[in-house]
Amino acid sequence: MELSPPSPVGLRRAAFRIERPFSALYRAGSGLTSPLPTMQKTSDINVVETRLLPSPAALLAELPKTEALAEFVTRAREEIRRIIFSDDKRFLLIVGPCSIHDLEAGRDYAQRLAACAREVSDRVMIVMRVYFEKPRTTVGWKGLILDPHLDGSHDIATGLRLARSFLRDILELGLPTATEMLDPITPQYISDLVCWSAIGARTAESQTHRQMASGLSMPLGFKNGTDGSIQTAVNAIKAAAQSHTFLGINLDGAASAVVTRGNPNCHIVLRGGTSGPNYSPAHLEQAAQLLAKARLPQAILVDCSHDNSAKQSERQPEVMRAVLAQIAAGNTTIIGGMVESNLFAGSQPIPVPPAKLRYGVSITDPCIDWPTTEALIREIHASLAPRFR
Ligand code: PEP
Ligand code: MN
Repeated sequence: MELSPPSPVGLRRAAFRIERPFSALYRAGSGLTSPLPTMQKTSDINVVETRLLPSPAALLAELPKTEALAEFVTRAREEIRRIIFSDDKRFLLIVGPCSIHDLEAGRDYAQRLAACAREVSDRVMIVMRVYFEKPRTTVGWKGLILDPHLDGSHDIATGLRLARSFLRDILELGLPTATEMLDPITPQYISDLVCWSAIGARTAESQTHRQMASGLSMPLGFKNGTDGSIQTAVNAIKAAAQSHTFLGINLDGAASAVVTRGNPNCHIVLRGGTSGPNYSPAHLEQAAQLLAKARLPQAILVDCSHDNSAKQSERQPEVMRAVLAQIAAGNTTIIGGMVESNLFAGSQPIPVPPAKLRYGVSITDPCIDWPTTEALIREIHASLAPRFR
C-alpha cells in the first residue's frame, strides 16, 4: 500500500513529537544538575509591573451619582444634541482650564463659572472643561487620572477617584461637564458623569478612538488633525456613527468584546493646525462643504485656543470675536466655541515642589484669566441678541 504524503498538520505533529525527546536528551545528557532552563521570555520584557485597579463597578459603587445628577446629565446631553441639530439656537461654549490639576482651584473656578452661566443661559449654553487626560506631542504630565500627585508616581486608582468625585462636584453646581476621552478604558469609570466629550487632534484619526466614540453616550466633538486636516474629523464622525465591535472591558473589569450602536451626535471642532488657524470664513465654508459631501450635519464648533491662537492664550478673545462676526454676518454652521480659561492667566512649568505651584494657573496650555473670561462670556451673550429677537 502506498503511503499518502503527510498533511501539513501531520508534519507539525511529527515535529512536535521529535522536539520532546530533544529536550529530554538535553536534560539527561547535559550533565547539568540545575533545573531545565526556562523558555526564552518573549513578552512583558519592557513591562515592569501591572498594578491591579478597582473595577469600574467598584468605583461607581464607591462614588455613586444621585438620581438628580443622572437627570441633569441626561438633560444637558439632550440640550447639546439639540444645538448640534439646530433645534436650539443657543451658542455652545465649552470653557475652562486646559487641565484640572488642583481640585480646590478647579472648584473655585467652577463656582464663578456657574454663576455666570446662569446669567447668560437664555442665549449661551456653558459647559465646563473638566479635562483629566492630556495627550502630549512628546512627553509631559498626562493629566490628573494618570498622575494625580504630579510627581511621576502615577497613582491611577487615586486619579480615577478624584476625577469621578470632581465631576460630581461640578454637576452639583449645575454646570454640565466636558472632557477629552483619551484612554479607551477610562470612560467605563467616569463617562456617566460627562455631558460632552472631545476626541483630540492627535487621536481623531485613530480607529481605537473612533470605535470608542461609537459607544459613548454623550454628544462628542472630533478635532481636526494636528496637520490641520478637516477631512480627518469628517471621516471620524462618519466612522463613529456606525456600529463597531472591539476589545474593551466590562463594568467588572473583564476583557470583553464591546458591541456598539454608533454615536449619531458627533460634530467637528476646528482647532487650527501646523499650517495655521482655521476659523476664517473660507475654512468654515470648506468644513461645511466637506460635511455636506459626507451627508453629515453641518455643525462646527471653533476652538479659539491651540493652533487657532498660535498657542498665545491672550489671543482667544480676538478669535472668538471673529467667530461672532461670522454669526452676525449670517453663518448658520457655527454651533459654538471653545476657550481655555483659568483663574489666572498663562501657564507655569512643572515639575516644581508643590508649595511653589501658583494657585489657579494652568500647568498645561496657557489660559486667559477669570476677569477676561467673564467679560468675554458677556460679550458673546450680547452679540447673540439679534438671533433671539
Ligand atoms: C485640549 O483641548 O486641551 C487639547 C489637547 O486639544 P487638541 O487635541 O486640539 O490639541
Ligand atoms: Mn489645551
